[in-house]
Amino acid sequence: MKINFLGSGSWQGTPAPFGDDEISKNVSWDTKDFRFRTSLHIQTSAGKTILVEVTPDIRLQSWKYNLKKPDAILISHWHWDHLFGLLELDWYAEKNKLSVYGNNVTKQWCDKSMGHININFNQFDSFESFTIDNIIVTPIPVKHVHKTHGFIFENNETGKKFVYLSDFFDIPVKTLESILDAESVTVDATYLESEIDDDLTHMQKNQFVSFFDKIKGPELILTNLGSYQNITHSDFENKFPNQTIAFDGMTRVV
Ligand SMILES: [Zn+2]
Repeated sequence: MKINFLGSGSWQGTPAPFGDDEISKNVSWDTKDFRFRTSLHIQTSAGKTILVEVTPDIRLQSWKYNLKKPDAILISHWHWDHLFGLLELDWYAEKNKLSVYGNNVTKQWCDKSMGHININFNQFDSFESFTIDNIIVTPIPVKHVHKTHGFIFENNETGKKFVYLSDFFDIPVKTLESILDAESVTVDATYLESEIDDDLTHMQKNQFVSFFDKIKGPELILTNLGSYQNITHSDFENKFPNQTIAFDGMTRVV
């Protein structure tokens, strides 16, 4: 399977709306400092396509990357930056029913806020794997807000795994044990260089080193980066030479 990072930004996106930080003021389209909200596009070897998260940026993401129509849409949790791009797909969905996968709380939000959109909702729960084409998808619980999941994507032809953990401040032991043999693990780096006392739903700066120490082996891909940290992509790369700093358009083949 081929994985394309459609976005690598935090919930504000970069540039942030009316952003007065140096990156938002100076960033150019098509540089690594321009970041849509974090999301993935996965293409299976048989040509099926999976969207992971539908961000409010989906309209421009689908245009910029010339995306094929999604066969499945996976949502990690109910926060608007992961889910509310479904509203952008209202017109598209009239002729292309959306096959959405999410947990029970995400379903409640879809029913409440998007009942008018043409959705076929497939509800999943922790560690209950399902298959899309030749990919085994396993939802894995993480600690963020009530009912948040990451995903293990396993290519059942090669046995190789790619792990996506978007938003979290910690992960349960069983989740940790399930991802140690992956090729790559994406990591929520919202506050990689920040201490934000009033938002403890993401890891804080002082927690990253011990988290990195727990996951030896897989490539660690840091995503959810925001301009509020005022650190450029290249400066992040210099500060974290043992991890990979995600950027929009980055790809992996697993
Ligand atoms: Zn969230």
